[in-house]
Amino acid sequence: MNFAESERLQKLLIKSGWENTDDINKADVVIAIGCSIRQKAENRVLSFLKSNKHLKKNGVVLGLLGCTANLYGEKILKQLPFLDIVCGPNHLASIPDILTGCTGKEIIIRTGENNNPFVQYIPSKNDVTMDVPITKGCNNFCSYCVVPLARGKLKSRKREDILREVKCAVEKGIKSVTLLGQNVNEYGKDLTDGYDFADLVREIAEIDGLLRIGFLTSHPEDTGEKILQTMAECPKVFKHLHIPLQSGSNKILKAMNRKYTVEKFLKVVEMARNMMPEISITSDIMVGFPGETEQDFRKTCEIVEKTRFNELFIFKYSPRPMTKAYGMKDDTPKEEKERRHKIILDMQRKISNEILSSFTGKTCQVLAEKISVKNPLQIIGKNIQGIPVAFQCNKNILGKIVKVKIINHREGILCGSICEEDLLLQGLQYQEKTQK
Ligand code: SAH
Ligand code: SF4
Repeated sequence: MNFAESERLQKLLIKSGWENTDDINKADVVIAIGCSIRQKAENRVLSFLKSNKHLKKNGVVLGLLGCTANLYGEKILKQLPFLDIVCGPNHLASIPDILTGCTGKEIIIRTGENNNPFVQYIPSKNDVTMDVPITKGCNNFCSYCVVPLARGKLKSRKREDILREVKCAVEKGIKSVTLLGQNVNEYGKDLTDGYDFADLVREIAEIDGLLRIGFLTSHPEDTGEKILQTMAECPKVFKHLHIPLQSGSNKILKAMNRKYTVEKFLKVVEMARNMMPEISITSDIMVGFPGETEQDFRKTCEIVEKTRFNELFIFKYSPRPMTKAYGMKDDTPKEEKERRHKIILDMQRKISNEILSSFTGKTCQVLAEKISVKNPLQIIGKNIQGIPVAFQCNKNILGKIVKVKIINHREGILCGSICEEDLLLQGLQYQEKTQK
């Protein structure tokens, strides 16, 4: 979400006449979008700003934006008294105006709720993919999570605004959209017309010229038959579900206030796999939540082993201020959290490798999304399961769906070669290039 918002803000600032620079010493304004989900992320942004406070002497405007800004508000000035701007994620659209009015003499603070917290997307040339926030905030209050405090209440974006934005972007060349929300299944729950997330996905799927639709994150409690049916029936929708489990122990899930049981989670996975046998399922796991015993941890390992996720994001519990779990004893030592983290990581690496290896020799339909940063002769795209695929080709393939035969995989990416007959059909010629 922070990544999507910074991309939008960057484009908005460029439209307002600002220029981007990679050299911090040439900047007139330095703004950092801070994530507070774990202490480590927060430390990173605070130390970045502290290490650049000397720039202030040269008249540079310094700002802290995003979740960290909203969570602490003006209290953050005790630690970072040199800031000129403190602006939460619901007020990013005002940044161009704030910068125009910023004299460096007074501190501008914008936090809390906002009637329209969404920043408009301004497509640039050659963009193939686009992230689209459809909700802001969250009402779930999982006991460990800072998001409801950092981002405020659930707010669904108006469907007309989403559809208009996507249609307009598709006219400018966008081929794939990822709908973003902390719990996408809650889209529309704060509106009154009964229009829900599955309805939105279906309506977006009708947009001509759009080739792929993805979304995250799905909440196990709210992922039901309707959205799975929509995924199964719409050929444009990625057959990929990111559905965080967090823990394999019902006792811990209850303490986390996750509102589902392991059995319910497994039912959703089973239903998804029955409807879409090829579906890729990824998840989040947290180790070391207060009260997690070796037995609870073993239960998580069992579910990981049994479910065979395509990929897992594994986190060590980090106490966050103002959350319910902050009042609980953080009783798993750091070394033990690391041990549990490593056990699941090793287990998952093996499973992910086995799943990726099963693609060898198969042909995938891949939307060519971008040129690889590491190798400019390589294109990176995604297959219908949302798995990244790398292959060599000209950049004039960008935005097209091509057939790629998978040869092997590396670092979670499938590697393959493009089927030549497919290129001929598309009237594109593949020119062999050699790397200098
Ligand atoms: N809205 C998503 C999660 C967003 S945060 C959902 O409900 O699934 C992404 C992930 O960060 C979470 O799934 C969780 O595993 C992890 N996370 C959140 N708070 C954390 C904390 N205090 N310590 C460690 N990991 C945390
Ligand atoms: Fe945080 Fe839970 Fe909301 Fe996800 S659903 S953002 S974990 S409170």
